[in-house]
Amino acid sequence: MTDPIPLARPVMGEREEELALEVLRSGRLSLGPRLEEFERAFAARLGVASTSAVASGTAGLHLSVRAAGIERGDEVVTTPFSFVASANCVLYEGARPVFCDIDRRTLNIDPAAAEAAVGERTVGLLPVHVFGYPADMPALEGVAAQRGLWIVEDACEALGGRHADGRAVGARGHLSVFGFYANKQLTTGEGGMVACPTAADKVRIDSERNQGRAPDMAWLDHDRLGFNYRLTDIACAIGLAQLERLDELLSARARVATLYGELLDGIEGLELPCPDADGDVRGWFVYVVQLPPDADRAAVIGALREAGIGSKPYLPAIHLMSFYRERFGHREGEFPVCEEVARRSLALPFFPQLTEAQVTRVGEELASAVAAARTAAAR
Ligand SMILES: *Cc1c(COP(=O)(O)O)cnc(C)c1O
Repeated sequence: MTDPIPLARPVMGEREEELALEVLRSGRLSLGPRLEEFERAFAARLGVASTSAVASGTAGLHLSVRAAGIERGDEVVTTPFSFVASANCVLYEGARPVFCDIDRRTLNIDPAAAEAAVGERTVGLLPVHVFGYPADMPALEGVAAQRGLWIVEDACEALGGRHADGRAVGARGHLSVFGFYANKQLTTGEGGMVACPTAADKVRIDSERNQGRAPDMAWLDHDRLGFNYRLTDIACAIGLAQLERLDELLSARARVATLYGELLDGIEGLELPCPDADGDVRGWFVYVVQLPPDADRAAVIGALREAGIGSKPYLPAIHLMSFYRERFGHREGEFPVCEEVARRSLALPFFPQLTEAQVTRVGEELASAVAAARTAAAR
Protein backbone atom coordinates (compact mmCIF):
# COMPACT_ATOMS: atom_id res chain seq x y z
CA MET A 1 0.00 0.00 0.00
CA THR A 2 1.15 3.56 -0.67
CA ASP A 3 1.65 6.07 2.16
CA PRO A 4 -1.39 6.81 4.30
CA ILE A 5 -3.06 10.19 3.78
CA PRO A 6 -4.22 11.75 7.08
CA LEU A 7 -7.26 13.97 7.44
CA ALA A 8 -5.24 17.01 8.50
CA ARG A 9 -1.66 18.02 9.08
CA PRO A 10 -0.13 21.28 10.29
CA VAL A 11 2.57 23.13 8.32
CA MET A 12 5.48 23.97 10.60
CA GLY A 13 8.76 25.30 9.28
CA GLU A 14 12.05 26.91 10.21
CA ARG A 15 10.49 30.26 11.01
CA GLU A 16 8.12 28.70 13.57
CA GLU A 17 11.09 26.85 15.12
CA GLU A 18 13.22 29.99 15.17
CA LEU A 19 10.61 32.18 16.87
CA ALA A 20 9.58 29.49 19.36
CA LEU A 21 13.20 28.81 20.26
CA GLU A 22 13.82 32.50 20.81
CA VAL A 23 11.03 32.51 23.42
CA LEU A 24 12.39 29.39 25.11
CA ARG A 25 15.77 31.08 25.42
CA SER A 26 14.34 34.44 26.51
CA GLY A 27 12.99 33.24 29.83
CA ARG A 28 9.63 34.98 29.18
CA LEU A 29 7.35 32.05 28.53
CA SER A 30 4.01 33.68 29.30
CA LEU A 31 2.63 37.24 29.30
CA GLY A 32 5.79 38.31 27.50
CA PRO A 33 6.32 40.52 24.44
CA ARG A 34 5.17 37.96 21.86
CA LEU A 35 1.62 38.02 23.24
CA GLU A 36 1.01 41.65 22.39
CA GLU A 37 2.86 41.33 19.10
CA PHE A 38 0.71 38.43 18.02
CA GLU A 39 -2.46 40.26 19.04
CA ARG A 40 -1.46 43.40 17.14
CA ALA A 41 -0.42 41.52 14.01
CA PHE A 42 -3.63 39.49 14.03
CA ALA A 43 -5.78 42.60 14.53
CA ALA A 44 -4.01 44.35 11.66
CA ARG A 45 -4.49 41.36 9.42
CA LEU A 46 -8.19 41.20 10.22
CA GLY A 47 -8.78 44.94 10.07
CA VAL A 48 -10.01 45.41 13.65
CA ALA A 49 -8.83 47.72 16.44
CA SER A 50 -7.77 45.06 18.92
CA THR A 51 -7.78 41.37 19.75
CA SER A 52 -7.14 39.19 22.80
CA ALA A 53 -5.21 35.93 22.54
CA VAL A 54 -6.62 33.06 24.59
CA ALA A 55 -5.87 29.42 25.34
CA SER A 56 -8.37 27.98 22.84
CA GLY A 57 -11.28 28.84 20.60
CA THR A 58 -13.58 27.44 23.27
CA ALA A 59 -12.05 29.75 25.91
CA GLY A 60 -12.54 32.67 23.51
CA LEU A 61 -16.21 31.78 23.01
CA HIS A 62 -16.74 31.50 26.76
CA LEU A 63 -15.20 34.90 27.49
CA SER A 64 -17.05 36.44 24.53
CA VAL A 65 -20.54 35.41 25.63
CA ARG A 66 -19.70 36.69 29.12
CA ALA A 67 -18.52 40.01 27.70
CA ALA A 68 -21.60 40.26 25.46
CA GLY A 69 -23.86 39.77 28.50
CA ILE A 70 -25.36 36.47 29.62
CA GLU A 71 -27.15 35.39 32.79
CA ARG A 72 -28.41 32.09 34.13
CA GLY A 73 -31.67 31.19 32.36
CA ASP A 74 -31.00 33.33 29.28
CA GLU A 75 -31.30 31.88 25.80
CA VAL A 76 -28.93 32.19 22.86
CA VAL A 77 -30.03 31.23 19.34
CA THR A 78 -27.41 29.22 17.51
CA THR A 79 -26.86 26.50 14.91
CA PRO A 80 -26.94 22.76 15.63
CA PHE A 81 -24.55 22.16 12.73
CA SER A 82 -21.24 23.08 14.32
CA PHE A 83 -18.44 21.87 16.51
CA VAL A 84 -19.94 21.38 19.97
CA ALA A 85 -17.99 24.27 21.57
CA SER A 86 -20.28 26.92 20.03
CA ALA A 87 -23.21 25.55 22.04
CA ASN A 88 -21.26 24.50 25.14
CA CYS A 89 -20.00 28.02 25.81
CA VAL A 90 -23.59 29.08 26.49
CA LEU A 91 -24.09 26.20 28.92
CA TYR A 92 -20.98 27.22 30.88
CA GLU A 93 -22.94 30.29 32.00
CA GLY A 94 -26.09 28.41 32.96
CA ALA A 95 -27.86 29.72 29.87
CA ARG A 96 -29.52 27.67 27.14
CA PRO A 97 -28.53 27.25 23.50
CA VAL A 98 -31.71 27.35 21.38
CA PHE A 99 -31.09 25.70 18.05
CA CYS A 100 -32.65 26.47 14.69
CA ASP A 101 -32.23 24.92 11.26
CA ILE A 102 -29.57 25.76 8.69
CA ASP A 103 -29.48 27.01 5.13
CA ARG A 104 -29.26 24.08 2.72
CA ARG A 105 -26.68 25.78 0.48
CA THR A 106 -24.23 27.38 2.90
CA LEU A 107 -24.91 25.01 5.85
CA ASN A 108 -24.86 28.12 8.08
CA ILE A 109 -27.64 29.26 10.40
CA ASP A 110 -30.79 30.21 8.46
CA PRO A 111 -31.61 33.83 9.41
CA ALA A 112 -35.38 33.30 9.06
CA ALA A 113 -35.22 30.21 11.29
CA ALA A 114 -33.05 32.15 13.75
CA GLU A 115 -35.61 34.94 13.90
CA ALA A 116 -38.40 32.44 14.50
CA ALA A 117 -36.43 30.91 17.38
CA VAL A 118 -36.05 34.22 19.21
CA GLY A 119 -38.17 34.30 22.34
CA GLU A 120 -38.72 36.29 25.53
CA ARG A 121 -35.49 35.11 27.12
CA THR A 122 -33.25 35.40 24.08
CA VAL A 123 -30.28 37.69 24.65
CA GLY A 124 -28.06 36.94 21.68
CA LEU A 125 -27.32 35.19 18.41
CA LEU A 126 -24.29 32.97 17.99
CA PRO A 127 -23.72 32.22 14.30
CA VAL A 128 -20.90 29.93 13.18
CA HIS A 129 -19.13 30.38 9.83
CA VAL A 130 -19.13 26.68 9.27
CA PHE A 131 -16.38 25.16 7.12
CA GLY A 132 -15.10 28.72 6.56
CA TYR A 133 -18.11 29.92 4.57
CA PRO A 134 -19.38 33.34 5.73
CA ALA A 135 -22.74 33.24 7.52
CA ASP A 136 -25.39 35.69 6.29
CA MET A 137 -24.38 38.44 8.69
CA PRO A 138 -26.37 41.29 7.10
CA ALA A 139 -29.62 39.34 7.67
CA LEU A 140 -28.61 38.29 11.20
CA GLU A 141 -27.61 41.86 12.04
CA GLY A 142 -31.11 42.91 10.94
CA VAL A 143 -32.70 40.39 13.31
CA ALA A 144 -30.38 41.39 16.16
CA ALA A 145 -31.07 45.10 15.70
CA GLN A 146 -34.82 44.60 15.61
CA ARG A 147 -34.89 42.39 18.70
CA GLY A 148 -32.17 44.15 20.69
CA LEU A 149 -29.81 41.15 20.72
CA TRP A 150 -26.04 40.90 20.77
CA ILE A 151 -24.08 38.83 18.28
CA VAL A 152 -21.03 36.71 19.04
CA GLU A 153 -19.47 35.12 15.95
CA ASP A 154 -17.81 31.73 16.02
CA ALA A 155 -15.22 32.32 13.30
CA CYS A 156 -13.04 29.43 14.48
CA GLU A 157 -13.24 27.78 11.05
CA ALA A 158 -13.24 30.93 8.97
CA LEU A 159 -9.85 32.64 9.02
CA GLY A 160 -9.37 34.04 5.50
CA GLY A 161 -13.11 34.25 4.80
CA ARG A 162 -14.54 37.50 3.47
CA HIS A 163 -18.01 39.03 3.28
CA ALA A 164 -19.44 40.55 0.10
CA ASP A 165 -18.78 44.07 1.44
CA GLY A 166 -15.05 43.31 1.58
CA ARG A 167 -14.76 42.97 5.33
CA ALA A 168 -12.94 39.96 6.71
CA VAL A 169 -15.05 37.43 8.58
CA GLY A 170 -14.77 38.51 12.20
CA ALA A 171 -14.34 42.21 11.39
CA ARG A 172 -17.99 43.34 11.41
CA GLY A 173 -17.92 44.87 14.87
CA HIS A 174 -19.08 41.88 16.93
CA LEU A 175 -17.04 39.83 19.38
CA SER A 176 -15.65 37.20 17.01
CA VAL A 177 -13.61 34.17 17.92
CA PHE A 178 -10.89 32.31 16.03
CA GLY A 179 -9.34 28.96 16.93
CA PHE A 180 -5.77 27.71 16.44
CA TYR A 181 -6.06 23.98 17.05
CA ALA A 182 -3.71 21.89 14.92
CA ASN A 183 -6.12 21.39 12.00
CA LYS A 184 -7.03 25.08 11.56
CA GLN A 185 -5.82 27.46 8.83
CA LEU A 186 -3.37 28.96 11.35
CA THR A 187 -2.24 26.85 14.28
CA THR A 188 -0.39 27.32 17.53
CA GLY A 189 -1.11 23.73 18.67
CA GLU A 190 -3.85 25.01 20.93
CA GLY A 191 -4.98 28.60 21.04
CA GLY A 192 -7.54 31.18 20.07
CA MET A 193 -8.11 34.87 19.41
CA VAL A 194 -11.03 37.16 20.13
CA ALA A 195 -11.64 40.20 17.93
CA CYS A 196 -12.77 42.92 20.34
CA PRO A 197 -15.04 45.62 18.93
CA THR A 198 -14.57 48.00 21.87
CA ALA A 199 -11.73 48.92 24.22
CA ALA A 200 -13.95 47.83 27.13
CA ASP A 201 -14.31 44.34 25.62
CA LYS A 202 -10.54 44.08 25.31
CA VAL A 203 -9.98 45.14 28.94
CA ARG A 204 -12.59 42.69 30.22
CA ILE A 205 -11.37 39.72 28.17
CA ASP A 206 -7.70 40.40 28.97
CA SER A 207 -8.64 40.46 32.64
CA GLU A 208 -10.90 37.39 32.66
CA ARG A 209 -8.37 35.27 30.78
CA ASN A 210 -5.93 36.10 33.57
CA GLN A 211 -7.90 35.28 36.72
CA GLY A 212 -9.75 38.60 36.78
CA ARG A 213 -6.73 40.78 37.24
CA ALA A 214 -6.86 44.37 36.07
CA PRO A 215 -3.80 45.48 34.11
CA ASP A 216 -2.78 48.06 36.71
CA MET A 217 -3.41 45.83 39.70
CA ALA A 218 -0.80 44.61 42.07
CA TRP A 219 0.18 40.95 41.81
CA LEU A 220 -2.55 38.65 43.08
CA ASP A 221 -5.18 41.31 43.50
CA HIS A 222 -8.35 40.51 41.57
CA ASP A 223 -11.45 42.59 41.10
CA ARG A 224 -13.64 40.09 39.28
CA LEU A 225 -14.08 36.39 38.61
CA GLY A 226 -11.61 35.14 36.06
CA PHE A 227 -10.14 32.04 34.53
CA ASN A 228 -6.78 30.83 33.38
CA TYR A 229 -7.32 31.13 29.64
CA ARG A 230 -3.87 32.56 28.86
CA LEU A 231 -1.93 31.69 25.71
CA THR A 232 1.81 31.08 26.19
CA ASP A 233 4.44 33.25 24.48
CA ILE A 234 5.70 30.08 22.80
CA ALA A 235 2.31 29.64 21.15
CA CYS A 236 2.18 33.36 20.27
CA ALA A 237 5.61 33.13 18.61
CA ILE A 238 4.45 30.19 16.51
CA GLY A 239 1.30 32.17 15.68
CA LEU A 240 3.40 35.11 14.48
CA ALA A 241 5.36 32.84 12.16
CA GLN A 242 2.13 31.32 10.84
CA LEU A 243 0.67 34.78 10.31
CA GLU A 244 3.69 35.84 8.25
CA ARG A 245 2.83 33.17 5.73
CA LEU A 246 -0.91 33.03 6.12
CA ASP A 247 -1.57 34.05 2.51
CA GLU A 248 0.55 31.18 1.28
CA LEU A 249 -1.20 28.72 3.64
CA LEU A 250 -4.63 29.93 2.58
CA SER A 251 -3.91 29.79 -1.12
CA ALA A 252 -2.45 26.30 -0.78
CA ARG A 253 -5.73 25.20 0.83
CA ALA A 254 -7.73 26.88 -1.92
CA ARG A 255 -5.59 25.08 -4.52
CA VAL A 256 -6.37 21.70 -2.94
CA ALA A 257 -10.08 22.59 -2.87
CA THR A 258 -9.99 23.45 -6.57
CA LEU A 259 -8.32 20.13 -7.36
CA TYR A 260 -10.96 18.24 -5.39
CA GLY A 261 -13.71 20.18 -7.12
CA GLU A 262 -12.41 19.19 -10.57
CA LEU A 263 -11.91 15.55 -9.62
CA LEU A 264 -15.12 14.89 -7.73
CA ASP A 265 -17.45 16.80 -10.00
CA GLY A 266 -18.42 13.70 -11.98
CA ILE A 267 -19.41 11.42 -9.10
CA GLU A 268 -23.16 10.94 -9.33
CA GLY A 269 -25.17 12.01 -6.31
CA LEU A 270 -22.17 13.51 -4.53
CA GLU A 271 -22.59 17.09 -3.31
CA LEU A 272 -19.53 19.32 -3.09
CA PRO A 273 -19.00 22.35 -0.81
CA CYS A 274 -20.96 25.31 -2.16
CA PRO A 275 -18.96 27.60 -4.43
CA ASP A 276 -18.51 31.23 -3.41
CA ALA A 277 -21.59 33.28 -4.32
CA ASP A 278 -22.86 36.85 -4.12
CA GLY A 279 -19.42 38.19 -3.30
CA ASP A 280 -18.86 36.07 -0.18
CA VAL A 281 -15.51 34.26 -0.08
CA ARG A 282 -14.83 31.05 1.84
CA GLY A 283 -11.69 30.73 3.96
CA TRP A 284 -10.96 27.07 3.26
CA PHE A 285 -10.83 25.00 6.45
CA VAL A 286 -12.00 21.47 5.57
CA TYR A 287 -13.23 19.72 2.46
CA VAL A 288 -16.58 18.17 3.34
CA VAL A 289 -18.72 16.39 0.76
CA GLN A 290 -22.19 15.01 1.15
CA LEU A 291 -22.49 11.42 0.01
CA PRO A 292 -25.40 10.32 -2.17
CA PRO A 293 -28.40 9.71 0.13
CA ASP A 294 -28.41 5.98 -0.66
CA ALA A 295 -24.69 5.39 0.01
CA ASP A 296 -23.72 3.70 3.29
CA ARG A 297 -21.33 6.19 4.89
CA ALA A 298 -19.73 3.70 7.25
CA ALA A 299 -18.92 1.47 4.28
CA VAL A 300 -17.32 4.41 2.42
CA ILE A 301 -15.22 5.32 5.46
CA GLY A 302 -14.17 1.68 5.83
CA ALA A 303 -13.16 1.38 2.17
CA LEU A 304 -11.16 4.63 2.37
CA ARG A 305 -9.47 3.43 5.55
CA GLU A 306 -8.41 0.23 3.81
CA ALA A 307 -6.90 2.37 1.08
CA GLY A 308 -4.96 4.31 3.74
CA ILE A 309 -7.11 7.43 3.48
CA GLY A 310 -8.46 9.27 6.51
CA SER A 311 -12.07 10.52 6.47
CA LYS A 312 -14.75 11.15 9.07
CA PRO A 313 -18.40 12.06 9.54
CA TYR A 314 -18.33 15.83 9.91
CA LEU A 315 -20.17 17.31 11.62
CA PRO A 316 -22.65 15.38 13.77
CA ALA A 317 -25.73 17.41 14.76
CA ILE A 318 -25.20 18.89 18.23
CA HIS A 319 -28.82 18.51 19.37
CA LEU A 320 -28.65 14.75 18.72
CA MET A 321 -25.54 14.21 20.83
CA SER A 322 -26.40 12.08 23.86
CA PHE A 323 -25.58 14.84 26.36
CA TYR A 324 -27.86 17.34 24.58
CA ARG A 325 -30.62 14.78 24.04
CA GLU A 326 -30.67 13.83 27.70
CA ARG A 327 -30.38 17.34 29.04
CA PHE A 328 -32.90 19.04 26.72
CA GLY A 329 -35.00 16.17 25.37
CA HIS A 330 -34.02 16.80 21.76
CA ARG A 331 -35.26 14.31 19.18
CA GLU A 332 -34.71 13.44 15.54
CA GLY A 333 -36.78 15.48 13.13
CA GLU A 334 -36.43 18.81 14.91
CA PHE A 335 -34.03 20.32 12.37
CA PRO A 336 -34.44 18.28 9.19
CA VAL A 337 -31.96 20.17 7.01
CA CYS A 338 -29.19 19.91 9.60
CA GLU A 339 -29.96 16.27 10.26
CA GLU A 340 -29.91 15.30 6.60
CA VAL A 341 -26.59 17.07 6.06
CA ALA A 342 -25.11 15.60 9.24
CA ARG A 343 -26.13 12.10 8.11
CA ARG A 344 -24.45 12.44 4.73
CA SER A 345 -21.40 14.63 5.30
CA LEU A 346 -17.88 13.29 5.09
CA ALA A 347 -14.62 15.19 5.59
CA LEU A 348 -11.80 14.22 3.23
CA PRO A 349 -8.05 14.74 3.79
CA PHE A 350 -7.41 18.47 3.55
CA PHE A 351 -4.22 20.39 4.31
CA PRO A 352 -1.86 22.71 2.42
CA GLN A 353 0.82 20.20 1.40
CA LEU A 354 -1.52 17.66 -0.20
CA THR A 355 -0.09 16.92 -3.63
CA GLU A 356 -2.05 16.61 -6.84
CA ALA A 357 -1.20 12.88 -6.88
CA GLN A 358 -2.60 12.43 -3.37
CA VAL A 359 -5.78 14.35 -4.15
CA THR A 360 -6.19 12.22 -7.28
CA ARG A 361 -5.78 9.07 -5.21
CA VAL A 362 -8.43 10.26 -2.73
CA GLY A 363 -10.78 11.14 -5.60
CA GLU A 364 -10.39 7.75 -7.28
CA GLU A 365 -10.78 5.79 -4.06
CA LEU A 366 -13.81 7.85 -3.10
CA ALA A 367 -15.44 7.29 -6.50
CA SER A 368 -15.08 3.52 -6.26
CA ALA A 369 -16.05 3.42 -2.56
CA VAL A 370 -19.21 5.41 -3.28
CA ALA A 371 -20.10 3.21 -6.26
CA ALA A 372 -19.61 0.07 -4.16
CA ALA A 373 -21.59 1.46 -1.21
CA ARG A 374 -24.49 2.35 -3.51
CA THR A 375 -24.53 -1.07 -5.17
CA ALA A 376 -24.52 -2.72 -1.75
CA ALA A 377 -27.39 -0.50 -0.61
CA ALA A 378 -29.41 -1.31 -3.76
CA ARG A 379 -29.12 -5.07 -3.24
C1 LIG B 1 -12.22 24.56 16.24
C2 LIG B 1 -13.53 25.14 16.60
C3 LIG B 1 -13.74 25.78 17.83
C4 LIG B 1 -12.68 25.94 18.89
O1 LIG B 1 -12.03 24.80 19.22
P1 LIG B 1 -10.82 24.75 20.26
O2 LIG B 1 -10.38 23.34 20.13
O3 LIG B 1 -11.36 25.10 21.59
O4 LIG B 1 -9.78 25.74 19.83
C5 LIG B 1 -14.97 26.35 18.06
N1 LIG B 1 -15.95 26.29 17.16
C6 LIG B 1 -15.80 25.69 15.97
C7 LIG B 1 -16.93 25.70 15.00
C8 LIG B 1 -14.59 25.06 15.65
O5 LIG B 1 -14.44 24.45 14.48
